Amino acid sequence: MDLAKLYTLAGKTALVTGASSGLGDYFARVMAQAGAEVIVAARRVQKLETLVAEIRDTGGTAHAVALDVSDRDSVRAAFSRIDRFVGKLDIVVNNAGIANSPKKFVDLPEAEWEQLLETNLNGAWRVAHEAARRMRDAGHGCIVNTSSIYSLATGLYKTDYNVSKAALAQLRKNMALELARHGVRVNTLCPGYFSSAINAREFNTERGREYIKRLVPQRLGALPELAGPLLLLVSDAGSFINGITLPVDGGALLAPV
Ligand code: NDP
Repeated sequence: MDLAKLYTLAGKTALVTGASSGLGDYFARVMAQAGAEVIVAARRVQKLETLVAEIRDTGGTAHAVALDVSDRDSVRAAFSRIDRFVGKLDIVVNNAGIANSPKKFVDLPEAEWEQLLETNLNGAWRVAHEAARRMRDAGHGCIVNTSSIYSLATGLYKTDYNVSKAALAQLRKNMALELARHGVRVNTLCPGYFSSAINAREFNTERGREYIKRLVPQRLGALPELAGPLLLLVSDAGSFINGITLPVDGGALLAPV
């Protein structure tokens, strides 16, 4: 066995949603470096264009596609463009997501609850649905949903976010069960805390910094610590991994109650 080739994505195409910042931007760079032709998608197209240029500068292949996962027509239009760009889709990293500022359950306005689920759950469903139909017809494919350790635990004042991420975990199980016979794998990556725009306001405070010190790893994760887990799930190294959830949290979930 050629171990060096185990994690290569050469010859594969990969869509990353939520690629205009944070984890998605990083995932796109990692998969491009591993040899995939990458399609980066989000609402802020200018940021995507910059990312595409940077990937091309390093010898990779990338395309930008405008996508609002909360809008059915936008998702359909984006997939039509993707079909024209690449003709086949081997990998989808279903990563777009938002978080509201923390609120007690009783104070959470219904509009915020709805908006969050529209993006984190319904949006991920729309992307997975479009991708899965294409992968089923092609007889192969791999979908990774970015969930969160909050899908496996509770967290104060984040009911909307936690419920959306827990629902993604169930989505992964049902999809994996139905799609395995078509050669399609569906897994969930559950990052712990990584610095990004989604949590900057929360963590860039004295209280936030104190909170991080009390975590089992006593620090945030660094993006390169997600590269290996991502490549394991999307490459042939993980060809027999299906329907799992993979926490990457430095042990944060081990915290005693
Ligand atoms: P960022 O805020 O940096 O990135 C969020 C991404 O989602 C952006 O690219 C944004 O793009 C995109 N997005 C948001 N809404 C939509 C939409 N309606 N349609 C299309 N794209 C959208 O946060 P992270 O990188 O941290 O988050 C990425 C994922 O990782 C999220 O699902 C998050 O829940 C998850 N996660 C993050 C953790 C962390 O510690 N950072 C921990 C666990 C999970 P744009 O605004 O341009 O549309």
